[in-house]
Amino acid sequence: MLAQVLAFAARFKTGKTFAVYNPADGVHIADVPDMGAEETHAAIAAAKAAFPLWAVKTANERAAIMRKWHGLIIEHKDALGHLLTLEQGKPLVEGIGEVAFGAGFVEWFAEEGKRLYGDIVPPHMPDRRCLVLKQPIGVVGAITPWNFPSAMITRKVAPALAAGCTIVLKPAEDTPLSALALAMLAEQAGFPAGVINIVTAASAPEVAGVLTSHPDVRKISFTGSTRVGKILMAQCASTVKKLSLELGGNAPFIVFDDADLDAAVQGALATKFRNAGQTCVSANRFYVQASVMADFVARLTKAISELPVGSGFHAQTRVGPLINKAAIDKVSGLVSDALAKGAQATLGGDRHVLGGNFYAPTVLTGLTPDMEIAAAEIFGPVVALYPFETEAEVIQLANDTPYGLASYFWARDIGRIFRVGEALEYGMVGVNEILSGHPGTPFGGVKESGQGREGSRYGLDDFVEIKYLAIGGLN
Ligand code: ADP
Repeated sequence: MLAQVLAFAARFKTGKTFAVYNPADGVHIADVPDMGAEETHAAIAAAKAAFPLWAVKTANERAAIMRKWHGLIIEHKDALGHLLTLEQGKPLVEGIGEVAFGAGFVEWFAEEGKRLYGDIVPPHMPDRRCLVLKQPIGVVGAITPWNFPSAMITRKVAPALAAGCTIVLKPAEDTPLSALALAMLAEQAGFPAGVINIVTAASAPEVAGVLTSHPDVRKISFTGSTRVGKILMAQCASTVKKLSLELGGNAPFIVFDDADLDAAVQGALATKFRNAGQTCVSANRFYVQASVMADFVARLTKAISELPVGSGFHAQTRVGPLINKAAIDKVSGLVSDALAKGAQATLGGDRHVLGGNFYAPTVLTGLTPDMEIAAAEIFGPVVALYPFETEAEVIQLANDTPYGLASYFWARDIGRIFRVGEALEYGMVGVNEILSGHPGTPFGGVKESGQGREGSRYGLDDFVEIKYLAIGGLN
């Protein structure tokens, strides 16, 4: 797959390249085209030229090509998963799982595009008819992160394509190979030239600057940090672009005293250690009711101590490396700060003996608000635990953040489930479950975690304009 992808990428004759490394061992994997403003302008022009031809196709015609793309992704899912683990580091089972999960968006939106219904509004005059049409927005700029190098792309590209939009995609510089592989398979599936355009780049601001300011780009869909999301939002103001933003999170994970503690431990493992904690929906603050705190910490610490750490290519590995040096320095700094200010580690507390980008799974208690970790998005395999006494107190603590993406709680009392579920200021609330996503459900945040939704029929709505068509003189 790597050789094929590099042959595909060789068509972009930019003269410049940038290197991609394996985060598990630092080994150089490949060099890919380093594109800039000039190539971004060319990609936008291609997408603009392709738009009227793609938009005019029927939903069935678009779906037929999308289903072919889906079939090719599934056919090659092992090789794509391998490539993903090579550049991203996550365990191979997660890499292959992500490819299949990502392909699901292509299949689901291929079908949902057929149900992009408008409305007929009862007229206010006898000779009038009032129609509401949904039309594709136009050229979409998509900017995606490295933590899900495949699924974050299909989750944007699939609804855009199904709605009739064309795309210019800039993948993250750490993980461009999965993106190139998807673009290569899209070409094999038969998308017309210009419908999907990829711009791999070492300098994100240069490419993003063109995408956000170009009048022919009608929408930006971004997944990444809140910091960068705010920059893009400001840049989009000059051309009043539509925006979908999936930004950072600070997910609370609340364990009430009536919870099934073993189920809560399993949920904690799944949401905290998937991708070594590098997901925007990873549990970030664990609030445990004081009466069950000691029991929960003991069970959780034991379970985490049994998670094998290592290369994603070792069959038993559950926790891989972090993505790069900056990531491990950040996590290491947060834990050191907490320990220096009096926190206790019931497990880990330092870099892993494997060295490099590996961090030891860590459990911290005794945390106080003056510690940096109390307000940070950890993005690593570190569990930060805080006790609480009452339901009202924990709701206040959970909502006391500028973020509002995912939240979780574990409880059995049905009244509590509704009260807390409705009180949490988050776009997503997992109750006794970890929000295992599928394409039919809406993913997205409130507050500084973003705007818009991905997946579900709402995710398709994000790529259409509403047009009111008023017809008069019908005597
Ligand atoms: P993360 O913390 O997940 O790395 P980033 O927001 O830094 O999140 O990166 C997500 C995406 O945003 C990547 O494609 C990256 O290249 C891009 N990006 C990073 N910095 C900028 C910037 N200043 N302007 C536009 N895009 C950026």
